[in-house]
Amino acid sequence: MVQSTNSIANFFLSHDEEDPAVSPALHQSLNYKIGSPERFEIISGDMSADLYQRYGNPNNRSLSQLLAKAEGAEEGMIFASGMASISTTMMALLKVGDHVVAQKSHYIGTHKLTKTVLPSFGVESTLVDQTSVEAFERALRPNTKLIMLETPSNPLLKITDLEAVATLARDRKILTFCDNTFSTPFNQRPIEQGVDIVMHSISKYIGGHHDLVCGAILTNHEIMKRIWDYNTINGAIGSPFNSWLALRGLRTLELRIARHNENAQALAEMLEDHPRIEQVFYPGLSSHPQHQLAQKQMDGYGGLLSFTIKGGLQGGRNFIEALKIPELASSLGGITSVAIQPAALFGSRLTDAELKNQGLEPGMVRLATGIEPTESLLSDADQALSKSA
Ligand SMILES: *Cc1c(COP(=O)(O)O)cnc(C)c1O
Repeated sequence: MVQSTNSIANFFLSHDEEDPAVSPALHQSLNYKIGSPERFEIISGDMSADLYQRYGNPNNRSLSQLLAKAEGAEEGMIFASGMASISTTMMALLKVGDHVVAQKSHYIGTHKLTKTVLPSFGVESTLVDQTSVEAFERALRPNTKLIMLETPSNPLLKITDLEAVATLARDRKILTFCDNTFSTPFNQRPIEQGVDIVMHSISKYIGGHHDLVCGAILTNHEIMKRIWDYNTINGAIGSPFNSWLALRGLRTLELRIARHNENAQALAEMLEDHPRIEQVFYPGLSSHPQHQLAQKQMDGYGGLLSFTIKGGLQGGRNFIEALKIPELASSLGGITSVAIQPAALFGSRLTDAELKNQGLEPGMVRLATGIEPTESLLSDADQALSKSA
């Protein structure tokens, strides 16, 4: 079913009618009363959130049900972090001898998992250019079991054609797994495009206040049961308190995403016309090489943008130092704008040639907009640019 963003906003604001509290309660309990011997079978059954906290808990259940509904999934599960949700899912669904296709550009943890950790467990992987559907097709083998996707990617804002890759995979009975952290269900719903499994790092936009670490998996019943079963021994469950905070985040998510989108679009447009800027990467710009694809599969383009400042490493550094509003911090998706200079951040680990190979120009800045007033962000960027030379 195709959701409208209005209906998602409405049910995020709605609340269990049985519960007299206006704000949902926090269930900080390790175990739960079974009540009567007859209920034991139900409560100890598959995907129960009412037995023991490692199997699930009522706050996780509320959060996962809302997210599953928003993404158009049958089931959801909440994990201790975004990485816990990705690694648990891969461990649950893959075995020695399988092959995985992933993108060259992924969140750093996913990159490490697919490039080195899975092969060390006997699962082969091929990393492809996400902008080419043919590259995904060429990488497929008879033992390919899963395709990992992330769009838009970070920090170059490349777009993966979700519907085209999902179709390739479905024809061959390969599962598709998409990291939807940067978009949230308000900007993009991969299951509507044919993807099987969606993941969120709730630590970013859904939590939204730079104060929690949490993750979610949303998928169909059969896949969820395999992941849930594996996690009963893996133990990477999300905590009740972080789920409770994330439930609060959901209630303002629509407002925040609207402002994140607005701020990033306005900043991208202003920067694109600025004489101190070489290039801007943002899927909401008509100059973005995949703007049409982004328009087709997204309802909004998100809060993340990158741009290259003239003057190389020093130019970028001068700009970042002169910024007054964005914090110099890496993790994004909260109310406060954050900026980093990737070449400076990764410069100790990567050579100049490796940086260039990944498209990370020395003067590049990655800025994730918060929910500050748009005009303030624009004038702050403008004054910092004037000091960047
Ligand atoms: C942060 C992030 C992750 C990992 O999430 P954690 O909650 O930090 O474990 C995965 N994917 C993306 C796109 C992220 O930004």
